[in-house]
Amino acid sequence: MSMLEISNITKDYGPSRALHPVSLSVHEGEFVTILGPSGCGKSTLLRIVMGISEQSGGQIRLAGKRIDPLPPERRDIAMVFQSYALFPHMSVEKNLGFGLRMKGVPKPERQSRINHALDICNLTGLESRMPRQLSGGQQQRVALARAIVMQPNLLLFDEPLSNLDAKLRDTLRHELVALHRRIGATSLYVTHDQTEAMAMSDRIVVMNAGRVVEIGTPLELYRSPRQAFTAGFLGQTNLLSVTAEGRQARLPWGQAVHLAAPAMGPAQISVRPESIGIHACGSGTVDAAAPATVASVSFMGASALYTVSVGDTLLKVSQSGGDPLIAPGQAVALTFSDHLSPLADQYPTEEAA
Ligand code: ADP
Repeated sequence: MSMLEISNITKDYGPSRALHPVSLSVHEGEFVTILGPSGCGKSTLLRIVMGISEQSGGQIRLAGKRIDPLPPERRDIAMVFQSYALFPHMSVEKNLGFGLRMKGVPKPERQSRINHALDICNLTGLESRMPRQLSGGQQQRVALARAIVMQPNLLLFDEPLSNLDAKLRDTLRHELVALHRRIGATSLYVTHDQTEAMAMSDRIVVMNAGRVVEIGTPLELYRSPRQAFTAGFLGQTNLLSVTAEGRQARLPWGQAVHLAAPAMGPAQISVRPESIGIHACGSGTVDAAAPATVASVSFMGASALYTVSVGDTLLKVSQSGGDPLIAPGQAVALTFSDHLSPLADQYPTEEAA
């Protein structure tokens, strides 16, 4: 069942449009991430869902009920901010209890909910500390516990890990995923970090310039993106122009490849560096379909990343780090995986959506 339903939300700041009609849904218990570059409208959308910013058009439903006319405190939503936004003059316990008191939750229930939230967020023993006596990671855990304790219908996260150093971010990311598995709270998470989105999400909503570009599971969007923007934003890729005839296509240098979905005429495909096999020529066993030469190689440990030139095209090719390295200048043969997906021509426009 769809828990959150965002329908045709728009936002104008004066004459400039920050959100074109945006529609998406989050199912009950699902963890959905909005991913996009800075300025694409992620926070604007999240703030509208929370009720701290007003939309210019469109509707929002939560658990079947229209919520966009309601003030934030009546929406049954809790939000975790990038800046933690803890009450600085209140202890951890009081931070957690504040919202419950406002809501009129009786004291015994309040205490048991606080204890449970402290427990699942690894904060037991820190209840009487003030926020300034906590590390950044602990403060972010308190912010999370304060959201969870409300048992909301929806949890919103606005880049909650981006103020933390890389190692702590990694730890908290794992904790968040484990926590989500345990409590199953319907969650909408905003980030510009594609690794974070890939690692955490059931589904990702890719946004650019105030529009939803594409929605899918991390695997779908990585393996078979429909949009060039998605392909380029989620990891590295090679965008190649091909001439397609059904499931067969010809690369710019004439080499034949198989497509995962049929296409006709000129088309664009996204080819991940690891979807290309690289084989040294000259041993007599490998025939190159086209003259290709290694331009450069970077050894990355788990893999080696090559730049290979074929005619006018420069390709990024990744090879498992265990394989012997091929030196720059060496002639190579390239092989292509069978699940190359043709891209759609352009973003779906609101008229077409
Ligand atoms: P993101 O969260 O993806 O970085 P935002 O939602 O913060 O992007 O911003 C989307 C667009 O709206 C940007 O172009 C930004 O400059 C603009 N914007 C955000 N807030 C305001 C505001 N209060 N007044 C005018 N423009 C704004």
